[in-house]
Amino acid sequence: MKDRKLLMIPGPIEFEPAVLAALGMPTTSHIAPDFIEVFGQVLERMREVFLAPEGQPFVVAGSGTFAMDLAGANLIETGDRALVVNTGYFGDRYGDLLSRYGAEVAHLRAPVGGRPALRAVEEALEARAYKLMTVTHVDTSTGVVTDIEALGEIARVHDVLLVVDGVCSIAGQELQMDAWGVDVALTASQKAIGTPPGLALMMASPRAMDAFWARKTPVSNYYADWGNWLPIMEAYEAREPSYFGTPAVNLITALNVSLGLILREGMQASFSRHIRISEACKAAIEALGMTQVPIAPELAAATMTAPRFPKGVDGRALLAAIKAAGVVVAGGLHPEIKGKYFRIGHMGAVSQGDVLATVGAVETALAELDYQFEKGVGLAAAMAVLAT
Ligand code: PMP
Repeated sequence: MKDRKLLMIPGPIEFEPAVLAALGMPTTSHIAPDFIEVFGQVLERMREVFLAPEGQPFVVAGSGTFAMDLAGANLIETGDRALVVNTGYFGDRYGDLLSRYGAEVAHLRAPVGGRPALRAVEEALEARAYKLMTVTHVDTSTGVVTDIEALGEIARVHDVLLVVDGVCSIAGQELQMDAWGVDVALTASQKAIGTPPGLALMMASPRAMDAFWARKTPVSNYYADWGNWLPIMEAYEAREPSYFGTPAVNLITALNVSLGLILREGMQASFSRHIRISEACKAAIEALGMTQVPIAPELAAATMTAPRFPKGVDGRALLAAIKAAGVVVAGGLHPEIKGKYFRIGHMGAVSQGDVLATVGAVETALAELDYQFEKGVGLAAAMAVLAT
């Protein structure tokens, strides 16, 4: 019998065996010709995955928060104004981060489970000039997805840099960086990108690079300074040796494998698979009589599902019972509703079988806690979606 649980949290996810095998290779020098080739391929593949043929990729050791830092540290100077289109916990984090670099930060918020109206974003940008606007594509604390295409149009009209926190979206939820006018898109290795935690991934548009070059003051964060990393990224792409800080050789080698797998499936095919799996999961949750944190179906992300605990069911006991049934899901994160909901991640290499196993575990757990429902109704709803 397999002695491990299925990991269905919104990151880290379960990784493909080929990716994990790459991690175990004998570590080479960071300037060995074969590693230079691997890193060069990674940078080229990132442009394809981010749908950003014009973008400048950066791959630096760190978590997703460091990818947020890479954008904040390089684009903000003291006194710059920044607007955070806030859909939860990670919007709050971005506001805090930008303040550290001296930004004057304004938040545009919505009730939990909602997102600020596009008109409200336009009004905020009409009322004052901002240098930069951040948006969380999928806020992992609420499962709310934002409309990046529409926000990109608004950003272009108002000449504000658009920074997208795509940690819980990129490679799972569709993001067309160039076509939608995004200036910085960032993520971390451990989510839909499909590589164990440890790499911050970021793509900058030519407009973002121009804004960086136009700075009047030095970047106050030494490790994050694009000026230190740009020559390194350019050198690897030109297949030349270089050094600033030792790259995470094994993780970057594993990243090359996962980016290769993503591109082999194809971006549109991958986005469609995420939608199908998400719809199957959400149909099951609904059939089981649970509501979700996003207040309308069109606000719900394709990479995760955030069900509220049913009335009368103890949340902690339910999570423990789901785990005992073989699946690990995540508890709540948003401070206002923390104990009232849980989170299921379904991104990256996730399969139909994974979502059915998860729904089965949720049903088993609900039955154990004497929740009244028609047994099998969640599985039937999920299977009906998957059969279409
Ligand atoms: N933004 C979002 C949307 C996230 O989901 C996360 C991680 N859950 C982060 C930022 C921060 O990433 P990390 O935990 O890798 O620092």
